[in-house]
Amino acid sequence: MKKKKDGDLIVISGPSGAGKDTIVGELLKRNKDIYLSISMTTRDRKEKEEDGIDYYFVDEETFIKNIEKDNFLEYAKVYDKYYGTPKDEVVNRLEKGIDVVLVIDITGALNIKKMFKDAIFIFIMPPDLKTLMKRIIYRNRDPKEKILKRFKEDYKLVNEFNNYNYVVVNDNVCDAVHKVESILLASKCSAQRIEDLELDNEEEIIHEFLVN
Ligand code: 5GP
Repeated sequence: MKKKKDGDLIVISGPSGAGKDTIVGELLKRNKDIYLSISMTTRDRKEKEEDGIDYYFVDEETFIKNIEKDNFLEYAKVYDKYYGTPKDEVVNRLEKGIDVVLVIDITGALNIKKMFKDAIFIFIMPPDLKTLMKRIIYRNRDPKEKILKRFKEDYKLVNEFNNYNYVVVNDNVCDAVHKVESILLASKCSAQRIEDLELDNEEEIIHEFLVN
């Protein structure tokens, strides 16, 4: 039985307060063979973030140079800053059979969908929209108008869930991670992944049965 050799491309999106980073962090802790793509961005680095681990933090000029050199698989402007997925880092791993996760916004996800029809698209949903607001406030400690802007953008995004193959509601991190793992496992068992089914010869099996 010959199986598809390429790794799975897993695209995860969701509003900023849905807890997708926590879920992905836990997923990677439990599944060491999955690679998380590190995006390039022009947004400022937060205190706890590290360059080359959370993002590649660059200025706008460097980002635009990378667009011109066709170095991105996809890129988008999110909350007024550029974010892009480095092409080679992802494609090389997929070709080696490694599963790759992209945590990207809806624009990026729709662009990936055009190029990778077999990619697995997962939308992480907050349990309810009041919780979403609470999480945005807790995460950012921003001025009210900025929080409001994020909430409105996130609210709009929540309505885009039907562009994805799966929706995982994050009311409990452990359950949500388990659901994501189950989706990935189901995908590995998909009949479409098997390129060429070479069954044992029927007559040989019957012959063996009859002579014994
Ligand atoms: P944050 O600044 O909160 O880390 O990310 C803001 C948004 O940008 C999130 O929705 C995140 O998923 C998205 N994002 C991060 N990296 C990329 C990327 O490479 N491409 C696209 N299209 N979106 C990204």
